[in-house]
Parts: sequence; C-alpha cells; structure tokens
Amino acid sequence: MDIQFLGTGAGQPSKARNVSSLALKLLDEINEVWLFDCGEGTQNRILETTIRPRKVSKIFITHLHGDHIFGLPGFLSSRAFQANEEQTDLDIYGPQGIKSFVLTSLRVSGSRLPYRIHFHEFDQNSLGKILETEKFTVYAEELDHTIFCVGYRVMQKDLEGTLDAEKLKAAGVPFGPLFGKIKNGQDVVLEDGTEIKAADYISAPRPGKIITILGDTRKTNASVRLAVNADVLVHESTYGKGDEKIARNHGHSTNMQAAQVAAEAGAKRLLLNHISARFLSKDISQLKKDAASIFENVHVVKDLEEVEI
Ligand SMILES: [Zn+2]
Repeated sequence: MDIQFLGTGAGQPSKARNVSSLALKLLDEINEVWLFDCGEGTQNRILETTIRPRKVSKIFITHLHGDHIFGLPGFLSSRAFQANEEQTDLDIYGPQGIKSFVLTSLRVSGSRLPYRIHFHEFDQNSLGKILETEKFTVYAEELDHTIFCVGYRVMQKDLEGTLDAEKLKAAGVPFGPLFGKIKNGQDVVLEDGTEIKAADYISAPRPGKIITILGDTRKTNASVRLAVNADVLVHESTYGKGDEKIARNHGHSTNMQAAQVAAEAGAKRLLLNHISARFLSKDISQLKKDAASIFENVHVVKDLEEVEI
C-alpha cells in the first residue's frame, strides 16, 4: 500500500507543485487505485507515474474549490481513451454539487464516456460511513473550511492470520486436505496419533492500516477524530508557524496545528501537503523542523513522491 502525491501545492500550481491530488495505491490489496481530489493537471502528473488511469476505480473529493476538482473532466475523458483496455466503471464520492459539475462539463464539451460513473454525493447530514467493501471501510466527517469540506478515514479491515506451511511440513503434516482444515482453525490428529493444534500454525491476525486524508481545514476536533491511531495522517499546511491568525481567516492550518492534530490523535506519521508557493526550499525545512517540535515523525511531501504505508 502506497500513497503517491500528484499535487502538493496550495491554491494554484507552481513550477514545483501542482494543485491538489493524491493516489492511494491499493494494488497488492485490491488491484485498484483511489484518487483523493483531482486538481487541474492531475492527468499530466499521472503520466509521470506508473499509475494506469483504468485502475483508478474511485475518486474521493474533499470539497468543491477549483484547485481540488478542475482536473476531473480532463482525467475522466482521457481515461476513456485507453485503446484495447477494458472500460471499467468508476465511483465518485464528494459533496453535493460534484455530480452537476462533472456532468455539466462533460455535456457542454460534448464528451461521451464509454464507462459509467456512479456518484455518491453527501452533505452535512449524510456523513459517517460512506463506503464499505470486503476489505475497506471509509468514513467522512465535516472539517472547518470556508465551504463545506470533508476529511476521509480509510480503514483496512484486519488481515487474517496466515498458515505457516514450513512449520506444518516440519511437524510431519502431509500436504493436502489437512492443510485446508488447519487453515480453517480446525485441530487435527495425524495417522501416527500426533495432535496438531491449528492455533500453533496460524499467525495472529494483523490489524489493518488506517489512512487519514484531510481536505482544507482550520484546526478542528473532527480532524483529530478522523486521525485517531492512524498509520498515516495527510494534513494541509498552507501556513507556517506564527501565521495562525491568517490561517484562521482563510480557513486553513499551519504546520504547527497539523502537528498538534497528529499528536492529539496518536497518529504514527504526519505528511504535510497543500504547501504555499511562497515557501522556498529553506522554508520547507523550517516547516518540518518547527512541526517536529510538536510531532516528531513529520515530513513535508513533494509532487510525485511515493510513501509506503
Ligand atoms: Zn479550499
């Protein structure tokens, strides 16, 4: 499981940072990629990665500001031009209005897609669990921005314990149906009378990962709730230390506030994105250094950077 950042800038693109988008790559888990936000130029950034647009099965939108959604019509149209590839449906989750934005853009531009889009719109009253699949559950909660904006908590379900085949062989269990029984938790007795306790040969279930991806927001308790015990928290850092007042006025956070959220939530790792073009590279190291005084495991991400979870 990896996160690849496609756009880490705030508001408008700069040479180094495109506007918001990131890909949660779940290739080993479910052979899918989930996009979070889709700012203008996201499809160009994808060209610089190994991500195949057809693998993008779900897109989650945090809010309707242009720097988070203007890439949708282009990405959705290009996704249709994959010759010889099967056209697979796509789900879009986002605030009410996202459907009308996408359908209007496609209609006005005469774009016809050879696959279907299923829209899942929500508002303040329909948040909470927004998706449950065999392996993942996704929750959304309202944040505190200048327009309705949400954060997402992606929870992988716990992974079943695996069978230790080598250990079983060493214990004299013949490969075959007995393996299946033991894997299902059944104790068995071998022909020579040896008792095999299934629990001794199955590793303990592993807890699933928790990934929290927030939209633009002031510091708010909702962020902390979404990030409780998260393996990774992706939080905006539009402003730096000392800019708390201006951050509040513009509906954003500073690096220090993001670090406070990570600390309060007991998250394991904090990745800062939505970085203003005002920050030069020396400022970026300062952003990290200052935030680390509150939450040590913090990193300011770059476009195209890939982080293993
Ligand atoms: Zn915004």
